[in-house]
Amino acid sequence: MKRKRIVSGMRPTGRLHLGHVHGALINWRSLQKDYKCFYFIADWHALTSEYEHPEIIKESTIDIIIDWITIGLNPEESVFFVQSSIKEHAELHLIFSMVTPLSWLERNPTYKEQLKEMAQKNLYTYGFLGYPVLQAADILMYKANGVPVGEDQSPHVELTREIARRFNHFYSNVFPLPETLLTPEAKILGIDRRKMSKGYDNAIFISDSKEIVNRQVANMITDPQRARRTDPGRPGFCNVFTFHELYTNKEMVKEIDESCRKASIGCVDCKKMMATNLNKALEPLREKRKKLEANIKIIENIIDEGNKKARKIAKDTMEEVREVVKI
Ligand code: SF4
Repeated sequence: MKRKRIVSGMRPTGRLHLGHVHGALINWRSLQKDYKCFYFIADWHALTSEYEHPEIIKESTIDIIIDWITIGLNPEESVFFVQSSIKEHAELHLIFSMVTPLSWLERNPTYKEQLKEMAQKNLYTYGFLGYPVLQAADILMYKANGVPVGEDQSPHVELTREIARRFNHFYSNVFPLPETLLTPEAKILGIDRRKMSKGYDNAIFISDSKEIVNRQVANMITDPQRARRTDPGRPGFCNVFTFHELYTNKEMVKEIDESCRKASIGCVDCKKMMATNLNKALEPLREKRKKLEANIKIIENIIDEGNKKARKIAKDTMEEVREVVKI
């Protein structure tokens, strides 16, 4: 039986961190079992915010593919491709732009949030407002049945469905309506308790060395109410504890929970223990990464192969689109 398709992408604006791992990549890895997955480097999307400094986009593309493989995404099973290498995305974006009412884009909640979040950049551009239209083109090009996204991105999938509906209504039933596959929420935050982000300088990256990880963990903000060593802590309010839940064995997590509440463990020791366990988990990934970095040609071949597969589907979709649009 033909496997259902899913499509998802990442903006190449730097190396990937643990927020990406727990917020997307672990889920992407497990989806490979049940779906035909199309994972792409969203470099045109990156350009909407990085247009003044586009160098980061190219640099990050290879890095991100290496991170994907390091985490266990399999290019033999899934299609990895680069958005800008499949020019059909631009054409479909243009056609969708004709049928998408401006009000749909202006009321998009993530648009407003991102304008605020990235206030240091001038994002009042035509391209940035139209970001979800390009996303719709990325998804519908492959006639995806589902899109794995976090809660914050679900309005974009809804918008994709609206665009598909409108297109199908005007022309012909070309596009399926993709489902939102909500990614289980990533609980980990950055070291300052804000969302983990390169832009906030609060991230722990997959490729970070042991020394950097130790330093970042030492700087982590813990339970804000635990001001003194003798104050009982609240593990539920502590980001270090959330990391323990992911990287420390169950019995030890239970012990830390109790010791923290009784103030019989200090935050410095608790952090050291967590950093040790986190480094233990990251060590094999660092090794795997190093080997991949030494074979960039293999990564480039993976991208070429993925682009070929994606291009073939995109070509077919666009032939169908042009025919029904009669242009
Ligand atoms: S002891 Fe550990 S879990 Fe408790 S507040 Fe300190 S760092 Fe967090």
